[in-house]
Amino acid sequence: MTLCFASLGSGSEGNGLLVQHQSTLILVDCGFSLVETERRLNRLGVTRQDLQGILVTHEHSDHMSGVAGLARQAQCPVYGSFGTLEPLLEELGSKACIIRDEESFSIGSLTIHPYAVPHDSREPLQFVITDGDKRLGILTDTGSITPHIEQSLSGCHALLLETNYDPDLLDRGPYPPALKARVRGNFGHLSNEAAAQLLHRLDHPNLRWIVAAHISRKNNTPQLACEALTRVLSHAPERLLLATHDTGLEWLTP
Ligand SMILES: [Zn+2]
Ligand SMILES: [Zn+2]
Repeated sequence: MTLCFASLGSGSEGNGLLVQHQSTLILVDCGFSLVETERRLNRLGVTRQDLQGILVTHEHSDHMSGVAGLARQAQCPVYGSFGTLEPLLEELGSKACIIRDEESFSIGSLTIHPYAVPHDSREPLQFVITDGDKRLGILTDTGSITPHIEQSLSGCHALLLETNYDPDLLDRGPYPPALKARVRGNFGHLSNEAAAQLLHRLDHPNLRWIVAAHISRKNNTPQLACEALTRVLSHAPERLLLATHDTGLEWLTP
């Protein structure tokens, strides 16, 4: 049995990604209330008691607001950089596990490789997760693409990739100028086009699934995000799927 993954939901209102291999189940980020998290876990056929760990990419509320409550209920460890977990250290106690850029670690039968990204939070990390055979690359909440990101995500069999905004919709949209500048900045979010350029460089015959994620409701549309990524997919554009705010994404196996 190979690794599989599913999304509880993706976007500025809350994120959560389940990754499972054999009896190991982990959750990457939890930006939902406890009740909402339970509801979304149940929809995907699991419960909080099944979780062996929670990884946190960074402290923004759409990724971390539900983490402490869920960890308490699930009685499982929480993994994140010192900068990310610092506000929760007291509450988590011995359940807090500090991880670092480039230092791989294991939870059950999964190996997690954290890598640093440029984003306006204290010490953000994103992850590549593998069962030793298939590799799932996760990238959301990055303002730009660095050589470190590209190298970390090479050779993945599935990619969850931020397509946050369309530049024209952002320009014409309702955000105040300072927030527009933040989103567009090198430590903000990834545009459809920047994600497409990265995908173009990462695409290879064994890349089975590409999931467009963290799509802004106000500054993007799922259609624009998909069009941008489809343009660079030389073959089998049906490999492209969406992780949405409301319903996330069903289980996939790379
Ligand atoms: Zn976010
Ligand atoms: Zn963020």
